[in-house]
Amino acid sequence: MPDTSQAPDIHTLTGWTDWKWQMKNRIRTENELRNWIEPNPGEIEGIRQTKNFFRWRITPYYASLMDPTDPDCPIRRQVVPHVDEMEDDMDILELDPLEEQAHSPVRNLIHNYRDRVAFCVTTECAVYCRYCLRKRMVGDGTQAMNKEELQEAIDYLAEHTEVRDVLLTGGDPLSLSDDNLEWIITRLRAIPHIDIIRIGTRYPVLNPFRITERLCRILSENHPVWVNTHFNHARELTGDAYDALDRLSRAGVPLGNQTVLLKGINDDIESLRELFHTLITFRVRPYYLYQAQLIGGTRHFRTSIEHGMELMDQLRGHLSGFAIPLYVLDTPHGKIPLTPSGYKGRDGDFVTVRAFGGESWREYNPE
Ligand SMILES: *Cc1c(COP(=O)(O)O)cnc(C)c1O
Repeated sequence: MPDTSQAPDIHTLTGWTDWKWQMKNRIRTENELRNWIEPNPGEIEGIRQTKNFFRWRITPYYASLMDPTDPDCPIRRQVVPHVDEMEDDMDILELDPLEEQAHSPVRNLIHNYRDRVAFCVTTECAVYCRYCLRKRMVGDGTQAMNKEELQEAIDYLAEHTEVRDVLLTGGDPLSLSDDNLEWIITRLRAIPHIDIIRIGTRYPVLNPFRITERLCRILSENHPVWVNTHFNHARELTGDAYDALDRLSRAGVPLGNQTVLLKGINDDIESLRELFHTLITFRVRPYYLYQAQLIGGTRHFRTSIEHGMELMDQLRGHLSGFAIPLYVLDTPHGKIPLTPSGYKGRDGDFVTVRAFGGESWREYNPE
């Protein structure tokens, strides 16, 4: 065991920049966590009490971003179990609020919209985010797909000519080996009506070394491939993350980002402004800001929808337009925008609108 009074010097660790080393050396015990931070009583109890509900793993890379002494650190709060998780109604932990299972014609293929599907190709992730939407399945080996099941989903897609956009998700698709990922992507690319392949991944955030030259080559050989990543806080936008995203950009992959609005982590105007602005300096376009879902053990992360809309209202006019994502609530009926509207109503031949600074404007606009 290294000296527990101080975080290891990451520069002396061989293997640090090897993504598989990061996976193999993931933190999974209180003692291992003590190499990085001084866990507080809520975290120590959390590690003990959540054991049977939801697994935890943290890559050393992501742990190195944690503030060792501040339990409110936005990195720590996303991934270190906390006893607050037990104060929610644990009976709803198995809940599937988006009714994804009911929308799955074959296992782990969610066909909710007509022209596009979400395809959960693995249940593994680099790190298990405490607010995960798919807690019901992630990290559960019994829910993993074998090759025959993957093939069944691919056959379904080949038959359904209305599908033109396939989102690979999970778990995290980049948990698969390059060979397995290439197997899936080339089979999808061989289906003529599938135009767009998308990957939703948190590896650039949690283990950026996963974005290897070989992976970038596989993606660039199967374009158009779009990648949406998942940064929640500007502190996650490190030099290593930049390099990973830069490799993807250079491989011709358009990059978007999906953020979850999380109480005490990013639900204030300064955190969101810094996150979204830094993302565009990394050439990543903020795409969605999600209202946190009703998942067991996540009550302490949820904000009111009105608070989220108020934050969106305050972003408008203070950030480059393309740095502002769409705030959405995901439901069994699809994603629903929660946009504060500039439109205030009609008065005869005039429409009244409101500017970001609060000024009203009357636009001549006969019906
Ligand atoms: C989010 C989602 C998609 C993709 O939706 P976009 O709004 O096009 O990004 C597709 N299928 C399911 C089931 C989804 O949840």
